[in-house]
Amino acid sequence: MTARVLVVDDILSNVKLLEAKLTTEYFEVVTAYSGQEALDKIDESNPDIVLLDVMMPGMDGFEVCRRIKANPMTAHVPVVMVTALDQPSDRVAGLEAGADDFLTKPVDDAALFARVRSLVRLKMMTDELRMRETTGQSMGLLDPAATLTDSAVSGRILIIEDRPESVAWFTGALQLAHDVSAVDTFEEALVRVRGGDYDLIIVNLGMRGFDGLRLCSQLRSLPEGRNVPILVVVSDGDRRKLTQALEMGVNDYLTRPVDKNELVARVRTQLRKKRYADRLRQNVQLSLEMAITDQLTGLHNRRYMSRHLDNLLTQAHKSGKPLAFVIMDIDFFKSVNDNYGHDIGDEVLREFAKRIAANVRGIDLACRYGGEEFVVVMPDTDVAYAYAVAERLRKSIETTPVEISRAPGKLTITISIGIASSESSDEKAEDLLHRADQALYRAKNGGRNRVVADAA
Ligand code: GH3
Ligand code: MG
Ligand code: MG
Repeated sequence: MTARVLVVDDILSNVKLLEAKLTTEYFEVVTAYSGQEALDKIDESNPDIVLLDVMMPGMDGFEVCRRIKANPMTAHVPVVMVTALDQPSDRVAGLEAGADDFLTKPVDDAALFARVRSLVRLKMMTDELRMRETTGQSMGLLDPAATLTDSAVSGRILIIEDRPESVAWFTGALQLAHDVSAVDTFEEALVRVRGGDYDLIIVNLGMRGFDGLRLCSQLRSLPEGRNVPILVVVSDGDRRKLTQALEMGVNDYLTRPVDKNELVARVRTQLRKKRYADRLRQNVQLSLEMAITDQLTGLHNRRYMSRHLDNLLTQAHKSGKPLAFVIMDIDFFKSVNDNYGHDIGDEVLREFAKRIAANVRGIDLACRYGGEEFVVVMPDTDVAYAYAVAERLRKSIETTPVEISRAPGKLTITISIGIASSESSDEKAEDLLHRADQALYRAKNGGRNRVVADAA
């Protein structure tokens, strides 16, 4: 795996040292010698990770980190503070500024590469989501997910640990702000994660009863566990276990003895990231839905119908079953707009869509084809059946007036319907559509408020 690393330090030899180490491991390195230069370079060169010196004249590392995390364009870029400071309180200050981790000078190579790789890998997962979200935004569908600076985050946390005194300590540290529960066996942990909606899982890698690493790998392969951040607790110096855990996709770690404030800060960072990723995922889902949905009626839109019709036709031909195409158009709809206003016209369209949806089966594909034209594609349906459904709908529209929000409170409308059914195996979607359209045209010409089926 390769990645672009931005190295920031005010001392030339520090920059050169890290640059040399990273280049040997085939990372691409970009450098900056001050806080401001770092912020400029982030915009210019889009790094996958930032290694940031804390003590610099002018803008210090904490401030640079805060600015990176407050900017929606850069908030997702992981930041590792590289510091000579090694007190828990320094770590907490950095975590509060939004840093993802710390490395202590002089930097240990194995720790450096393991952490950079793990953070870059985690970032790639959100990059994919961000890219899709950006597409949704450029289509004008979405507001961007917020930044990573939510202050008060609280979440559901599962602690996996088999030493009662340790469970009590972790619970005590976290329960004021979070909903905390604990389990102490391998099986119970899997059951809980499958059934529970957790925001964070804390796993002790030094348990007596079972192998915490093996559990982490299982959790990562569960659909319900894949997107839940995992924070592992390792003994100071157990570098091998830590590297394995990071390679497995564990999100963050704490070393024993655990500092309470550092625990609280790391938990908060993971919960923020989780919330950000959840929001991205929701937005992507939403933009997918919006791209195929008609906003006024909630039915599928024409684009979706056109794409899907080809699949349905292929399926129908393969199975030798008929497929009916029903096209409906409101009669004299223009006069509804003219007499009562466009907004009342919209109300009528929404109600009409509701009635269509209520009258078709789950496998039928109902969509707004355009303006006041609607289409239902009915798989496994011959003309006779489609005719019966269409006729029932036509009658119910005619006999049950549509309620509107202004005087006179109710409107009676009628609709005309054209039907065609695919029978020959090589008929194209557009020919089927054309035949249904012709039938509709005959229904209109024949006096409206009627159903006409194409003889085929
Ligand atoms: P016909 O019986 O021949 O179908 O007559 P019609 O008036 O329904 O047909 P026409 O196609 O001339 O008019 C359709 C009207 O639908 C014109 C347009 O202003 C209106 N329309 C299209 N989309 C919308 C919409 O989203 N909302 C509203 N309120 N009106 C719409
Ligand atoms: Mg410095
Ligand atoms: Mg019309």
